[in-house]
Amino acid sequence: MQHNEQLDDIRRAVRALCEGFPGEYWRAKDRERAYPGEFVDALTQAGFLAALIPEEYGGSGLKLDAAAVIMEEIQAAGCNGASAHAQMYIMNTLLRYGSEDQKRAYLPGIASGELRLQAFGVSEPTSGTDTLSLKTRAVRDGDAYVVNGQKIWTSRAEHSDLMLLLARTTPREDAEKRTEGFSIFLVDMREALGKGLTIKPIRTLMNHSTTEVFFDDLRISAASLIGEEGKGFRYILSGMNAERILIGAECIGDAKWFIEKATGYATTREVFGRPIGRNQGVQFPIARSYAQMRAAELMVHHAAQAYDAGGNPGPEANMAKLLASEASWAAADMCVQTFGGFGFAEEYDVERKFRESRLYTVAPISTNLILSYLAEHVLGLPRSY
Ligand SMILES: Cc1cc2nc3c(=O)[nH]c(=O)nc-3n(C[C@H](O)[C@H](O)[C@H](O)COP(=O)(O)OP(=O)(O)OC[C@H]3O[C@@H](n4cnc5c(N)ncnc54)[C@H](O)[C@@H]3O)c2cc1C
Repeated sequence: MQHNEQLDDIRRAVRALCEGFPGEYWRAKDRERAYPGEFVDALTQAGFLAALIPEEYGGSGLKLDAAAVIMEEIQAAGCNGASAHAQMYIMNTLLRYGSEDQKRAYLPGIASGELRLQAFGVSEPTSGTDTLSLKTRAVRDGDAYVVNGQKIWTSRAEHSDLMLLLARTTPREDAEKRTEGFSIFLVDMREALGKGLTIKPIRTLMNHSTTEVFFDDLRISAASLIGEEGKGFRYILSGMNAERILIGAECIGDAKWFIEKATGYATTREVFGRPIGRNQGVQFPIARSYAQMRAAELMVHHAAQAYDAGGNPGPEANMAKLLASEASWAAADMCVQTFGGFGFAEEYDVERKFRESRLYTVAPISTNLILSYLAEHVLGLPRSY
């Protein structure tokens, strides 16, 4: 089968699954700030969350462009992929840098749904965007590491069995370079909970199951180290490029949802005896939003292809995330404006999606930091921080 036909089949299959999870389902979860476990289970059982896992470990061995299509369709159908997206992007770090033993130990369980890999512990309350100043320490002690510190915004930690954790293993002053001395661990949270690991939920603007995580002399096996000790920051950057591309794809899905909703409403809502969409003042913002979304979509596809070719396309991944998050937020605002007062009513789902899509110009990396990356590393402007 041609690759594009395969991607079209995936689109159709994801759409069909999402039909089982209509607006009422998401509204109820949103009201209660409850985790959409049924939706995540359905995605897992259909094999979508194992798309990137090679076939020899029980997955479907697809590339990042297929994962991007899955995430985009989930959002375009009005669902909330934030409940499950981390499994896709964390996967790349394990696939690229994990040992054969680690892959054999975890990937088949993740593919079957027995194990959930949904938590990614990087952000800390005091370091913020300055990841290199993170304070969580992992100190080698025989065949274990002892972890102390705190993470914040560790989303889905309460609904995951495994966490990918970034911690400092060499004190800052002893590291050869500022980017060295960090390591990545695959922490089995089932063993750790109550034995040095505590999770505290944070209630947010939208339903996101995010948390604070505390490490208090938590002992983890030395076998949970991914790759070489001290090289974790390099590994995480590569994983973050995959994350940015996938988040970009989700934003494209959101933008498509807003544009479709606005177009439908503008065609059917009659005021002054005619559809509101007959007024250019209503049409033009929708058309502009469509053009903005299509331009961003091209960059997301371009970045995914560059990643799938084996590269580490930092500029493309960052631009994809920047443009797509701005396109989805602009589409969200346009959609509320098109709906007028009804944009604020819960039953249309516009206000829910509006709140959900607001996140992506802030996280997983904020717009300013992408711009400063492009300014410095692509354009050669002076370093600003
Ligand atoms: C709902 C939610 C879920 C999240 N999930 C996860 C997760 O699962 N795992 C995880 O590790 N993290 C997660 N995050 C954290 C997220 O990645 C960070 O919030 C984000 O990277 C921004 O960091 P910060 O909040 O510390 O902002 P800060 O670093 O405090 O920055 C605040 C503002 O200042 C700006 N700023 C800071 N420094 C500069 C500079 N030098 N130049 C210009 N502007 C600057 C930023 O752009 C930002 O707008 C999540 C966050 C949220 C809100």
